[in-house]
Amino acid sequence: MIQTTDFSSVLKSGYYVDGQWKETQQHYDVTNPSTKALVAKVAYCSTKEAKEVVDSAAKALTAWQAITAKERAQRLKKWFDLIIANQKELATLLVTEQGKPLAEGMGEVVYAASFVEWFAEEAKRIYGDVIPAHKGDSRIVVIKQPVGVIAAITPWNFPLAMLTRKIAPALAAGCTAVIKPSEETPLSAHALVHLAEMAGIPAGVLNVVSGDAKAIGEVFTQDKRVRKISFTGSTKTGKFLYQACANTMKKMSLELGGNAAFIVFEDADIDAAVEGAMASKYRNTGQTCVCVNRFFVHDAVYENFTQKLAAAVKKLTVGDAFSEGATQGPLINQMAFDKVSNHVKDAIAKGAKVLVGGKPSELGGTFFEPTVLIDATKEMLMSSEETFGPISACYRFNSEEEVIALANDTDFGLSSYFYTQNLSRAWRIAEALECGMVAINEGMLSTEVAPFGGIKDSGIGREGSKYGIEEYLNIKYVLMGS
Ligand code: NAD
Repeated sequence: MIQTTDFSSVLKSGYYVDGQWKETQQHYDVTNPSTKALVAKVAYCSTKEAKEVVDSAAKALTAWQAITAKERAQRLKKWFDLIIANQKELATLLVTEQGKPLAEGMGEVVYAASFVEWFAEEAKRIYGDVIPAHKGDSRIVVIKQPVGVIAAITPWNFPLAMLTRKIAPALAAGCTAVIKPSEETPLSAHALVHLAEMAGIPAGVLNVVSGDAKAIGEVFTQDKRVRKISFTGSTKTGKFLYQACANTMKKMSLELGGNAAFIVFEDADIDAAVEGAMASKYRNTGQTCVCVNRFFVHDAVYENFTQKLAAAVKKLTVGDAFSEGATQGPLINQMAFDKVSNHVKDAIAKGAKVLVGGKPSELGGTFFEPTVLIDATKEMLMSSEETFGPISACYRFNSEEEVIALANDTDFGLSSYFYTQNLSRAWRIAEALECGMVAINEGMLSTEVAPFGGIKDSGIGREGSKYGIEEYLNIKYVLMGS
C-alpha cells in the first residue's frame, strides 16, 4: 500500500541535510499570496548550511553511484507512486504557498510526477558507443558517467515541476544534489524530499536549503565539488550565475525567461487560436516562462480574433486559489504586481486600448484583472520585457516576412506559437522562428517527453526527454589498443 501524508511536519521543518531536518537560529516567513496569511516560518540558511549540504551530497556520492541503475530506477518509480498517491496533499501545499487555482495545482503534481516516471525509465538506458579506431583491432569505447554533485536552483512559478525536471534525471544518472528552492515556495521542495525519503532515496542524496540566496549561491558556484548547476529563473540571475561559475568551470543548464510570440495567420482557425491563446496565456495567471507575451494577428482577422479573445477573457474568474470556480489567482508578490501594473500603464500611455481588464482587481492584494490590450506597438515595455502576468498585448501584421522579423526581434528565444492551415507555411515559419520550442495550432507545449529549453537570452541546455539526462552525464572515451 502506498502511504499518504499530510505534510504537517514539513510546515515546521528546518533545512534538510544528510537525511535529517535541522534548525537555524533565524527564520523567514512564507505567506499565502491569496490571503497574505502566514503559512510557515522556514529555516533561514546561509553560508554555513550551504557548505553543510554540499559536504553531505559529496559524502553520499560513492554509495549512490554503487547502486545499480535498475535499483535507482525502482526507487524513482516508488517516488513517482508516492507523489501520485499524495496528489491532493501536495497540491494543497503548493497552492497555499504559490496561489495558483487548486485545479491547476492538481495538474502540476501530475506534471511534476511525469518527470520522475520518465527518468526512472531513462536510468536504465544510459548507453555508450563503440567506435572502430584507425589502428589494427583497436576500439574506442565511449562511456557516460554521472557528473557528480549537482546544485538545483528553482523558481516559484512551478515549484514542484521545476524541481523534478532537474532532480529526477540527476538521480537517474547517479548524481547527488543540493537544492535551493525559491524563498517564496520552499515547502513544495520540502514535501518532495520528504516523499523521496519515504521512497528509499538514501540520506545525503538530496539536500535542501533556502534563505539567503546570494550566500547560498556563492557557495554553490565556488565549491569545486559541485560539478553542475541547473538553474531555472530569470535571465538576470542566470547571467550572474553563469559568470560566477566560470572560476570552477562547471557544467550549466540555464532555463531562463521568455518573450513568446503567438502568431495568428489569416488562414487560421480563429476559434482554435483563441482556445490555444487562453491556455497559453492565462494558466498560472500568466506567470509561465513559455506563456505568450506578444500576440501578432494578421490584419484580415485582427478584429475577429481580438474580439473573441476578449469575450473568452471576460469569462475568467479571479479569486482565492481555493475558492470555487476561480481560474485566476493572485500574482506572486508585490514586485510582480508592480511590474504588471507598470507594463499596462506604459502601454496605455503609448496608445494601447483596453478591451477587457487593464487594472488591479477589486479583490485587492496582488490580484490583477485578466486583460486584453489592442494596438500594441514595439515601443511598449511589454514588447521587449517579460510581463509575467495575465495580460494579452495584440499587434497587427500584414505579411509573413514582416511577422517573422517582428517575432524574432527580441533577445529571448524560448517558445513560439502560430496558427495556420497551410502545411508548407507551417514548416517555413517553424524553421524561421528563433527559439527552442514551437507549437503549431497548439497552445500548450510542455511535456516530459520533449526537450524543453531555449536559445539566446532564454538559456542553455534541455530538460525532459532522452536529452534531459545527458545534462547530468560526462562523456569519457577509452581507447583499447590491440
Ligand atoms: P529569480 O531569478 O528571481 O529566482 C530564481 C531562483 O534563483 C530563486 O530560487 C532565487 O532565490 C534564486 N536566486 C536569486 N539570486 C540568486 C543568487 N545570487 N544566487 C543563487 N540563487 C539566486 O526568478 P523567479 O522570479 O523566481 O522566477 C521567474 C523567472 O523564471 C521568469 O523569468 C521565468 O520566465 C523564469 N522561468 C523559466 C523557466 C524555463 O524553463 N525557461 C521556467 C520557469 C520560470
